[in-house]
Amino acid sequence: MGNELRDSHGRVMRDLRVSITDRCNFRCLYCLPETEEAANFYRSKWDAARNPRPAALEPIRYEWKPKSDLLAYEEIERVVRIAVSLGVEKVRLTGGEPLLRRDVPKLVAGIAAIDGVRDLAMTTNGFMFARHAEALRAAGLRRVSFSMDSLDPANFKRMTGRDGHAEVLEGIDQARGLGFAPVKVNAVVIRGMNDHEIEALAAFARDRDLSFRFIEFMPLDSSRAWQKDLVVPAREILARLKAAFGLVPVDQSTNPSETARRHAFPDGRGEIGLIAPVSEPFCGHCNRLRLTADGKLRTCLFSMEDHDLRPLLRGGATDAAIAARLVEIVRGKEAGHRIGQPDFVQPQRTMSCIGG
Ligand code: SAM
Ligand code: SF4
Repeated sequence: MGNELRDSHGRVMRDLRVSITDRCNFRCLYCLPETEEAANFYRSKWDAARNPRPAALEPIRYEWKPKSDLLAYEEIERVVRIAVSLGVEKVRLTGGEPLLRRDVPKLVAGIAAIDGVRDLAMTTNGFMFARHAEALRAAGLRRVSFSMDSLDPANFKRMTGRDGHAEVLEGIDQARGLGFAPVKVNAVVIRGMNDHEIEALAAFARDRDLSFRFIEFMPLDSSRAWQKDLVVPAREILARLKAAFGLVPVDQSTNPSETARRHAFPDGRGEIGLIAPVSEPFCGHCNRLRLTADGKLRTCLFSMEDHDLRPLLRGGATDAAIAARLVEIVRGKEAGHRIGQPDFVQPQRTMSCIGG
């Protein structure tokens, strides 16, 4: 079938995540760690005698892509339009930090106007959200996900490498005030770093009526310092939250591709989602594709190869030729990631460079 993005495992792609820049103003410990404190944290977790760091795991040296390599808004809109003609319904703008790019509302308006885009969202670290919120809303953005791993400004700084907790809180409140719905907040949980804040973060979600997502730490950090012991399994988080709040599961039978296992608070305000790519992979239902800021299509976060669309976009290819290429690329989507398997290899691109 040529008119949809169906892979060889029978999964049909409906969700396109578009990274619009690889640049970022934060240096999150689990993504682009930079500070001495982050290095010390990881160093303390590798123990030369009991748990030596494998020699092969050299940090990834990233350099921002030259601006000329980044897709122009017209090019992004064209790929989205073609993907939507092939059945994609959801589009999420991400990065790097998407709000570092100029005139993002212009891109939002362009994508919102594409017939068939049923859901347009953005993931942001929130530092600059408040100042752009109204323009984004007016341009047609309906949903926004913030990343906020800590409620304690000092720990926030430890995790993101930057001061900015107050700005992110302001962004979240602004999004609520402007009627973005739902307002989601993501936290990556790292053992020994912010796992002591799990209950406080959940209480924050309930108090502010937020959809809060706890995400397992994945091996996508530029330092390649990830190790399994730093992952707090979702089932452990859930057990703690059930004990503290008596969460009740949300019926998700109509949407098996959702990555989060969702739970409601008994009083009906706010929601918790557990995203467990490491301990309980959901690859069997994956319907996602990723377009990197430099125009590479990725069929999995953990793909070892990506597929360059730029030569087609800049070389005069027709929409039909690009559509045929998308169909062909999707056919080769991998069955799933191999985290935890002996042959697992971390991709050379970090999360900031892929688009989470
Ligand atoms: N800069 C924006 C932000 O932080 O929201 C958007 C890009 S960021 C790469 C997208 C999401 O990926 C964030 O929610 C972040 O927490 C998550 N992320 C980054 N590195 C991760 C990792 N190693 N494991 C799990 N989630 C990660
Ligand atoms: Fe930047 Fe987002 Fe990565 Fe943090 S997670 S370094 S905010 S891209």
